[in-house]
Amino acid sequence: MTDATTSNFLTGHPYSQRYYDILEKRHGLPIWQVKAEFLNMVHGHQTTVLVGETGVGKTTQIPQFMAEMGYTVNRKIIACTQPRREAAMSVARRVAEEMDVVLGEEVGYSVRFNECSGPKTCVKFLTDGMLLHEAMTDPLLERYSVVILDEVHERTLATDVLFGLLKEILKQRVDLKLVVMSATLEAEKFQGYFVDASLMKVPGRLYPVEIFYTQEPERDYLEAAIRTVVQVHVCEPMGDVLLFLTGEEEIEDACRKITREVAAMGDKVGPIKVLPLYSTLPPQQQQRIFEAAPPPAREGGPAGRKIIISTNIAEASLTIDGIVYVIDPGFTKQKVYNPCIRVESLLVSPISQASAHQRAGRAGRTQPGKCFRLYTESSFKKDLQEQTYPEIMCSNMARTVLQLKKLGIDDAVHFSFMDPPAPESLMRALELLNYLGAIDDDGNLTPVGNIMSEFPLDPQLAKMLVASPEFRCSNEILSIAAMLSSPNVFLRPREAAKAADKAKACFTHKDGDHLTMLNVYHAWKNHNEDPQWCDEHFLNVRSLKWADRVRTQLVRICTSMNLRLVSTPFEDKDYYTNIRKAITAGYFMQVAHLQRSGQYLTVKDNQVVHLHPSTCLDHTPEWTLYQECVLTTKNYIRTCMDIKGEWLVDVAPHYFDLSNFPAGECKRALERLYAKKEKGLC
Ligand code: ADP
Ligand code: MG
Repeated sequence: MTDATTSNFLTGHPYSQRYYDILEKRHGLPIWQVKAEFLNMVHGHQTTVLVGETGVGKTTQIPQFMAEMGYTVNRKIIACTQPRREAAMSVARRVAEEMDVVLGEEVGYSVRFNECSGPKTCVKFLTDGMLLHEAMTDPLLERYSVVILDEVHERTLATDVLFGLLKEILKQRVDLKLVVMSATLEAEKFQGYFVDASLMKVPGRLYPVEIFYTQEPERDYLEAAIRTVVQVHVCEPMGDVLLFLTGEEEIEDACRKITREVAAMGDKVGPIKVLPLYSTLPPQQQQRIFEAAPPPAREGGPAGRKIIISTNIAEASLTIDGIVYVIDPGFTKQKVYNPCIRVESLLVSPISQASAHQRAGRAGRTQPGKCFRLYTESSFKKDLQEQTYPEIMCSNMARTVLQLKKLGIDDAVHFSFMDPPAPESLMRALELLNYLGAIDDDGNLTPVGNIMSEFPLDPQLAKMLVASPEFRCSNEILSIAAMLSSPNVFLRPREAAKAADKAKACFTHKDGDHLTMLNVYHAWKNHNEDPQWCDEHFLNVRSLKWADRVRTQLVRICTSMNLRLVSTPFEDKDYYTNIRKAITAGYFMQVAHLQRSGQYLTVKDNQVVHLHPSTCLDHTPEWTLYQECVLTTKNYIRTCMDIKGEWLVDVAPHYFDLSNFPAGECKRALERLYAKKEKGLC
């Protein structure tokens, strides 16, 4: 053991045996070959860009190197960002283990709605969004001596904004060190962006990976994926499998089916351990992906296999050793923003060639591997774009612009973005914030906007919360906001769809999905959060618990912002009306109007939309507020609520200003409402 002393430099306790065991493995990581050189470079430059293939040890080792070198001085600590919350939590757990400390003490994490760090913490993993949020109260990031921006090749919106902020902060804080880490090739671009940045490349070790394509396009990629996994298990030699799918539902579905199919084959084939991986999975369960494959069922029997079914997180953020077979259907969920209807949605979309390359690489970490692409070779060459677009090019910028305003950066248009967003999307964002009352006509942050920026929520959601005490329903709106920020609570397994629909009907509120969600939340609380009751009612326990955690945090922010927590008595006939009005105060820009033809048109933009089949609305109200627009074969509006036109002209006359309104039935309806209102006033 070369550099291990006998007591832990963080705690002073003697190191455990486990520490030494892991240390030996750590020494084998490529990053250790360049440790001295790296530290030299950091010493000589304020910014260092570090590039290396996934798995060389960047994320887990670099923060430790920095801590060991004493960069945590004057109580300033090391921050390491991750684009994904699950990665931040998982990596923190691993690094705590490697450093032989308790997670949450010397090594911790901080992600939206979940904080696990304390006064002793000196290495903290956080999502890029969280660091950005911290910057709003600590504009020079003074609690940190080192900021490590990790996985920057993902180019998330928050990372891109952090680039711009840090570029400024570095000028003002000569003591701050920045390390930028990336898995792919745009290194020179990152280096060129910062002043006097040094660049270092860590050579990785990758075994050859053989690529297979399908001959014909697959009609149903999920079915094809399941078939391929089973085939690999039956036909291929030992080695674990990694399948990429797009989200929780799909992943859980595939886990069940694969387990069932393989079980039906009996002991002709080896035992399997099928493990899901997605963001809302509890950390302990996420951690299971690092367990070993199961042993053969009997001595001398066929070998066991671990099968991991994951979202994009396993593409680069987490490295799982022992994967030999990768199955890549070629899809991922991506944010897509449609500025025409101002709606951002997560859509299942084709991945880029760069992503496909990354995915294949996962098969060659420990030995030569195979990658099965469930698309044709010509499709790979013709249909997939070369690189994934930076998120900033396809996002709704409203929340970011609000954050920048709060940070004192008034002119988002001239902010130093690495790749600037379209001016159109910045203008849209400013317009939206102005309509919501978060910025005034001169573009200055208003007191309401100031409070809104404290919430880790989209501006509309934040506005609805801020407005809710006025409508005497902040307690209820908190629950609804929390439910809206959580994964879908309604389970609907294909084989029990009818029973699930029946169960859902118990909670249905005729005026729509928001109130239905509130009913579910209340019912869950009234049943003491009983998991069995959830099972019986086809409710996802994890989503409800998640919502509860979110709610607790939102309550904390409300309290610190002096927002009153109030309710209208349930017996009051206005109980639900008040709630609906408060929601309207945040979402008045997402409303569709029913035409005489029976079709809904979005207000102002005149897009034809349809109520999503999942909605609880049992009628077609004249005015429908919607939470999101889902674009599939048709434009669907999802999570809908019946509202009254009167409320629109009450809460947002500035938005429903008829002088610049497209002609049509909607305008005429509004004209009547204004006339009525005026009469009433007279
Ligand atoms: P990089 O950031 O360069 O992609 P990492 O630092 O994430 O690399 O990973 C380095 C090594 O640490 C990998 O071989 C990976 O398998 C291992 N590792 C990371 N997290 C865990 C964990 N929770 N359990 C076991 N091994 C882990
Ligand atoms: Mg990494």
